[in-house]
Amino acid sequence: MPTALNAYAKTPMLFRKISGAFVARPALFAASGGFVALVMAVITVVSLYDMRTDALMRARDAADGLSLLLSRDIERNLEICDLSLQAVIDGMADPVVLALPMPLRQRVLFDGATKARDLGTVLVADHLGNIVFDSGALPPPPRNANLSDRDYFKVQRDRLSDALFISKPFVSSVDPPLLSIGLSRRLTNRKGKFSGVVLGTLQLDYFQHLLDGMPLGPHGSITLVRTDGIVLMRRPFNVGEIGRSLAGGASFTPVLKSEKGSFVGVAILDGEQRLYSFRHIGKYPIIIEVGFSTNDIYAQWQWRACVIGGVMGTLCLLLVLMSILITRQFRERLEIEQRLRIRADTDSLTGLSTRRALDIALQFETRRAKRDRRTLSVLMLDIDTFKLFNDRYGHVAGDKALRTVALCIKESVLRQGDFAGRYGGEEFCVILPGTALHGALHVAQAIRKAVYDAAIPHSASPLGIVTISIGAATLDGASGVEMTSSQLIDCADRELYAAKAAGGNTVMPPAQRDEKDANVESPLIAEQAPQL
Ligand code: GH3
Ligand code: MG
Ligand code: MG
Repeated sequence: MPTALNAYAKTPMLFRKISGAFVARPALFAASGGFVALVMAVITVVSLYDMRTDALMRARDAADGLSLLLSRDIERNLEICDLSLQAVIDGMADPVVLALPMPLRQRVLFDGATKARDLGTVLVADHLGNIVFDSGALPPPPRNANLSDRDYFKVQRDRLSDALFISKPFVSSVDPPLLSIGLSRRLTNRKGKFSGVVLGTLQLDYFQHLLDGMPLGPHGSITLVRTDGIVLMRRPFNVGEIGRSLAGGASFTPVLKSEKGSFVGVAILDGEQRLYSFRHIGKYPIIIEVGFSTNDIYAQWQWRACVIGGVMGTLCLLLVLMSILITRQFRERLEIEQRLRIRADTDSLTGLSTRRALDIALQFETRRAKRDRRTLSVLMLDIDTFKLFNDRYGHVAGDKALRTVALCIKESVLRQGDFAGRYGGEEFCVILPGTALHGALHVAQAIRKAVYDAAIPHSASPLGIVTISIGAATLDGASGVEMTSSQLIDCADRELYAAKAAGGNTVMPPAQRDEKDANVESPLIAEQAPQL
């Protein structure tokens, strides 16, 4: 034990204070453990949420980069094709070209078209839709077909703008039967009237190859769509989806609101939720929309969140459990300590305080009385001729009588702060803080009377019952007279001997010796003649 005490003495004061506070207040320890676990849980949740947001931001950057790359490639290619159509229009307006012999005229007209790698056949139709020039018919004549029922022809005929028109996807009848789109421009005569169209076909293979190479994740998508919602090409490729309209869908409506941007939406075509990055392609009425599946984006995060969340959750749980267990231990220890302290301070026979507790209380109250300049009274009590009682009735009956006397003392000492203990053998002591002598004598008389009234038969006693003698002494803290607790006990003891000398069943000093309370009715009316 001394080793343990030495170790405790070497522990830093702050640590001793903190541990002391926890030991004394177990609920504080439980609350601290819970608070730390809560802070850990909150930090974990915030960090995981940040990681989730980061994953989304990274995916958005990647999708933005991809849509920019694709839009530039497509814009450049459309420009090349458009320039080829423009060259045909310029040639059609040049009398020198029109005056050339047919094969040469055709070669000059379609010279640009041959340089556009992805552009298929280029046709020129007159205002009735009849093909008049055909880049695929070399040598002429052009194929015999009429385009007046095609959407691009009708659009160019009915509108005033000479902008490039991109048609819905169709299976080309002029090229090998592959999915294509038509790029058309309006021809006008000198008077500004519609005089036909120039049409170039662009096979959708070009877009398909372009989109195939892009890193998208397992559930990503890229959609090339006209501004009216018609799908021109999509990855993953499904021929049934080409030409379908996305107009009004959640994954399409936001793309009409600005030139570029991103949003999270659910695809109309496959129901997958994606982060979409879209971009209008130059001056053309088409949009590229790159979508990364949110499932793909969060897949890695989810795995990490499960691991980190699981570990932190387990740690928090362990912390809470440990706090609860330690708190319970502290509480049990406190209860045991309290029980032991009570047991150590309680006399097992009488239930009053022990001599040790009595000494501590007396010293404490003596110091307090001096400090606060208050009175402090002490009663010393002794059972009269108790040896004879034991001799006559035996020790078991003696113990019972001691318990009865103790009960009388307990029931007479009622004020908060009063203290009663067994001094030793059949002697007791009562400490009465803040009580002057006359008050102490009242209490002493009450105890004496209670014991007398208990009427425990004692044939060897002069009164035939068990009686008690009491000596009282008072320390007046305000008087300045120096008096220790032992001196106070000595004084009370002397009064006790005087009470014995007076024949027992007596309280001493007599009231007239208490000058301050001389007018108070004497509390020392000992029942010298028992009222049996
Ligand atoms: P006096 O009137 O002068 O006080 O005489 P007394 O016989 O009471 O005093 P004395 O000191 O001679 O005897 C005290 C007796 O108290 C001795 C012992 O038999 C008894 N006694 C002390 N402690 C106990 C106890 O715990 N149980 C019992 N049964 N008797 C006790
Ligand atoms: Mg005695
Ligand atoms: Mg005695």
